[in-house]
Amino acid sequence: MVLVQLAHITSVAIENARLNSALREQDRRKDEFLALLAHELRNPLAPIRNGLEALRLSDDPAIQEHSQAVMDRQLGHMVRLIDDLLDVSRISRNKMELRRARVVLADVVNNAVETARPFIDAARHSLEVTLPPRPVILDADLTRLAQVFSNLLTNSAKYTPPGGHIRLSAERSGGEVRVVVRDDGIGIPQAALTSIFDMFSQIDRSIERSNGGLGIGLALVKGLVEMHGGTVTCDSAGPGTGSAFTVTLPVLEPRAPSASPGGPGGDRDSSSGRRVLVVDDNEDSALTMAMMLRLLGHKVEVAHDGLAAVAGAESFRPDIILMDMGMPRLNGYDATRQIRQQPWGAAIRIIALTGWGQESDRARSKEAGCDLHMVKPVPLAELKKLLATV
Ligand code: ADP
Repeated sequence: MVLVQLAHITSVAIENARLNSALREQDRRKDEFLALLAHELRNPLAPIRNGLEALRLSDDPAIQEHSQAVMDRQLGHMVRLIDDLLDVSRISRNKMELRRARVVLADVVNNAVETARPFIDAARHSLEVTLPPRPVILDADLTRLAQVFSNLLTNSAKYTPPGGHIRLSAERSGGEVRVVVRDDGIGIPQAALTSIFDMFSQIDRSIERSNGGLGIGLALVKGLVEMHGGTVTCDSAGPGTGSAFTVTLPVLEPRAPSASPGGPGGDRDSSSGRRVLVVDDNEDSALTMAMMLRLLGHKVEVAHDGLAAVAGAESFRPDIILMDMGMPRLNGYDATRQIRQQPWGAAIRIIALTGWGQESDRARSKEAGCDLHMVKPVPLAELKKLLATV
């Protein structure tokens, strides 16, 4: 009896020690991650500030163009890091929702290639894409699935010495499609082939070797693939031998062709001359947005709180309102409600433009009467597309 109790106490003690050590390891990884995060977020700030100073100091069009390109690239990089962080946190809290529809694999791949292309070209890699001859239909969220493949392609570009070869190939087998992203880069040690999909896992974490990533891209890939009912695995014969990531996804049977595919209709040119009311309590944000829209040829007025927005909408009668949500005096939700109650307010397109992009935020702005919910910062191309559809 005593022996049984002793064995039990020992096994509990061993289990406690194991849990303690796992917690310490998790803590260490989190500390390392925070240091890396601060480093990666601070990195783009220096070139952005230098670019700004250069713009201030010089009228030379070549310098201006170069500074703008640098600032644009660095800003894009920061936005991507923050988006990835928010996405993994959403997935780990089960808060990510997919907007699924019948999508064609080729569209997903094209979208992903477009995103990864600058990284592939910058390192002078070649990219070969091979898709099955017949369209492969998936029940998927196009943007999210494209994010999976753009992450894999971007990693291949990052972890392959310049002038390498990247291949994306897809093959149908039964009710599934297998998409393989292969490179001839630095490869992955055998021991890391599974842990590489864990959050914050990087093979070389030294900040000197940092590649502008946070070690969350593959965790995001895995989470998104699994949400689509698929799997992802990684193969490599070891360091220096390249890597292959295989994503397997269930496919849908093609439907009989219908009258018109509809579709987003491509990029129409943005037509100018819209009346736009920009509402934002952050004056710099409102000012730069107004400046950009005026440069595109639109007529713009600005309001810095909800009450001014309602008054501005009544006097200016805009075609479209870009409405911030969190504001003093009257928030964007209530301002939208008040505008919608007016006889002149029903036809205005009101776009919620906020830093909050969770499903619950979207539901709340929709319920208040917004036509669309966009998360800041909205890329110019998207804004142009939006204004073209008003
Ligand atoms: P990040 O690239 O931000 O570090 P990821 O989660 O995308 O984070 O990747 C995790 C780690 O996996 C990377 O740090 C890198 O060590 C390794 N890795 C990912 N893709 C490849 C690849 N194609 N070739 C070699 N190593 C890779």
